[in-house]
Amino acid sequence: MRVAQMTDGFGLDHLPYGVFSPVGGTRRVGVRIGDDVLDLAAATGRPELATPSLNAFMALGPDVWAETRAEARRLLEAGAATVPLRDVELHLPIEVADYVDFYASIHHATNVGRIFRPDGAALLPNWRHLPVGYHGRAGTVVPSGTPIVRPRGQRPAADGPTYGASRRLDIEAELGFVVGVGSQLGTPVPYGAFADHVFGVVGLNDWSARDIQAWEYVPLGPFLGKSFATSVSHWVTPVAALAAAWVELPGQDPEPLPYLGPDLTRGLDIDVEVVLNGEVVSRPPYRTMYWSPAQMLAHLTVNGASLRTGDLYGSGTISGPEPEQRGSLLEIGWGDESAYLADGDEVVLRYSAPGTGGGRIALGEVRGRVQPPGS
Ligand code: MN
Repeated sequence: MRVAQMTDGFGLDHLPYGVFSPVGGTRRVGVRIGDDVLDLAAATGRPELATPSLNAFMALGPDVWAETRAEARRLLEAGAATVPLRDVELHLPIEVADYVDFYASIHHATNVGRIFRPDGAALLPNWRHLPVGYHGRAGTVVPSGTPIVRPRGQRPAADGPTYGASRRLDIEAELGFVVGVGSQLGTPVPYGAFADHVFGVVGLNDWSARDIQAWEYVPLGPFLGKSFATSVSHWVTPVAALAAAWVELPGQDPEPLPYLGPDLTRGLDIDVEVVLNGEVVSRPPYRTMYWSPAQMLAHLTVNGASLRTGDLYGSGTISGPEPEQRGSLLEIGWGDESAYLADGDEVVLRYSAPGTGGGRIALGEVRGRVQPPGS
């Protein structure tokens, strides 16, 4: 293949990692180049890559990540053989350890506050002081393309809840951050240590059943309205490939507490597209978030909770200030029941960012189609 011709966002300046299996073969780690994959396990002989997830490799740390990325690039420049993606099967790239989801967009939090609590303050008093989050269900994180079965549960109604299929199935367009290197129990991870721990970024759709969620979330937060499925991209974009995408976030007022790194509020200039049944319905910009990826990591460990290889934390719904930048159907339809997903609907989240080569890279897409609930 002629590497120089590739302009589709998967060139030599990107090289995202994934797990694939050739026909009749076992799962192993590869890097994507164009519409092909390089079998990195075979090409490097590294045993940590001949495994069914990225975890063993991610645990080796930033020096090995940099060496391996450079080696993959050298191999491809030297014309290493690759396999067309159409001839392989792609899998969940990481074995998810713990999963946390944040709520880091001030535009999303304000919109949701106005819709759910029209008579109260849009933002609760804690919101500008800490990145609000909850623990999700690691075992139901699924790779792009996995069908999403409409969940059943308790739906609120005027004379008491009813049981049945959710009528308000929604998406949340998010970014996910994948932890490579763990930390010690009892020792917070300082905000400046982001690059020592975080391996890469995935696209993430936090499927949400708004009726189930609205009834259950007070006082302990989201539970069954979220835990039925969370989709992530097949490809993990290494943090190194996003070196040209860092931007200063819009600003924080009041200044956050010192452990949240008030002087290090860098976000990523990643553009998101929400595609519903083939039509772009929204373009949320990640650069408009309030809390940064490093601040979310510092906050989630400030109590001494340890990180593990394979931990995943989501940004929360990405919504910009404009109506056409909203990252959930709840906001796009402003609570209108007809805006939610119907059986058979397909949602694709697409992501792009400035690459280090002067063009743009395309992060892995996240695809999912809604299926009716089983009997
Ligand atoms: Mn979410």
